[in-house]
Amino acid sequence: MSGRLAVIGLGPGDARYVTPDALAALAAADALYGYGPYLDRVPAREGQSRHASDNRQEGARATAALRAAAAGASVALVSGGDPGVFAMAAAVCEALAAGPPDWRSLDVTIVPGVTAMLAVAARVGAPLGHDFCALSLSDNLKPWELIERRLDAAAGAGFVIALYNPISRARPWQLGRAFERLRSLLPPTTPVVFGRAVGRADERVTVTTLAAADPNAADMATLLIVGSGETHVIERPGRTPLVYTSRSAQGTSA
Ligand code: SAH
Repeated sequence: MSGRLAVIGLGPGDARYVTPDALAALAAADALYGYGPYLDRVPAREGQSRHASDNRQEGARATAALRAAAAGASVALVSGGDPGVFAMAAAVCEALAAGPPDWRSLDVTIVPGVTAMLAVAARVGAPLGHDFCALSLSDNLKPWELIERRLDAAAGAGFVIALYNPISRARPWQLGRAFERLRSLLPPTTPVVFGRAVGRADERVTVTTLAAADPNAADMATLLIVGSGETHVIERPGRTPLVYTSRSAQGTSA
């Protein structure tokens, strides 16, 4: 098959975080697919068609991109951040696994990008300096009970926890419930980072504690980092505090 599909991570928002590899893959495409606001970040190029779709339609978008590639096009499918983190690369693999056998001979490339948790972590210091995990709080594709079990397990095992998809209009209560759960397992002084729209004009990053963390301070563009027993805050005169997680651990529980 002559068609190609590149699944490309655009990073958190700032053009400086788009890798040269992603730029090359975008330039090589003759058809662009993706969620509208992500496609808007890609400068228009003559002769390149654009196929914007709605946020929730990942499966349909992946299938459409694979179909176009199977028909011979050189297709770029864009994701925010990294395409493999709660994004389109897994949707493409699912569609490919369920699709016609000839899709398996397509040239499929995944082009990595800077994921939100790394961009937010870099803004405040080194909160991911020791063992950590990432969880999506969205219960669109998994039951809420499973999310609670995973939160309990992660906090109980002493992981720093990055929370993607903390809240949305359709999911207004989940983050408050997650904080309640974490407060029953972790000290009230546990550092919590809210990183909103990092790398965009309306970026806002704040550091608070688990006791004071307000779910209303998060929106769809926010990533949270909840510290562990090894996470510390260094206050600095005239500068924002540095949050870091020590590289060593004591072996005690969270
Ligand atoms: N593939 C993306 C994640 C998609 S899930 C990535 O690797 O970053 C969408 C979630 O990512 C949002 O709800 C938010 O939690 C987080 N996110 C995406 N871009 C962000 C940004 N610029 N700043 C903070 N969080 C962001």
